[in-house]
Amino acid sequence: MIKGWHKLSLIDYPGHLCTTIFLGGCNFRCFYCHNSDIAFSPESSPDYSIEDILDYLEHRQNYIEGVCISGGEPTIYCGLINLIEQIKSKGFKVKLDTNGTRPEVLWDIIRYKLVDYIAMDIKAPRYKYCLLSGISKEYLDLDAIERSIEIVRKNRVDYEFRTTVIPEVLSMEDIILIGCWLSGSQKYVLQSYKGKYGCLAVDRLTQYAEMVSPHFQKVEVRA
Ligand code: SF4
Repeated sequence: MIKGWHKLSLIDYPGHLCTTIFLGGCNFRCFYCHNSDIAFSPESSPDYSIEDILDYLEHRQNYIEGVCISGGEPTIYCGLINLIEQIKSKGFKVKLDTNGTRPEVLWDIIRYKLVDYIAMDIKAPRYKYCLLSGISKEYLDLDAIERSIEIVRKNRVDYEFRTTVIPEVLSMEDIILIGCWLSGSQKYVLQSYKGKYGCLAVDRLTQYAEMVSPHFQKVEVRA
């Protein structure tokens, strides 16, 4: 189920040098997906074995500190807890990227102290979630997203909420709505989208960040 592997990353885990693994499959259908092969047709990518990854890590323990588990959506993988346990047993920190659709999985990995950092995507303000996630209203479970937000905020684990800003699709008003929704949270990251739908200028993103900064302890722009 591990369908991608970046052996060394300086940016995927804030403050730590890490290796990043990508689990196949996703329950969202974001039109701008950055990893669509792994998310939508994981069977077309080869598998990486956890043994190989752990072996790689064991030989680099002096400088790699953590593993970023990304996707796809890692929480839909039924072997996630076992996978994290194997990584933790070797003494590495774990960061999890998630779209927040499986609050019960988030709760389990938090209460069993299996995760050190959670990065949860906030795709859009509530009223635009269907458009950005690619999930129709009758199937989108916004309550699950709300529960994940609360679980992440109320427990003693470092976290960030983050939004990829697609030009022309998410406006400054939308970012302000997200800021109000998440108000009081630790950290919010605005990520620049670069792709076929364009790219928002960094100074514009910075302007958005300034608008929402009163709602968070920290706001970052990732260009
Ligand atoms: S949640 Fe992430 S992996 Fe899934 S479709 Fe959206 S961008 Fe792609």
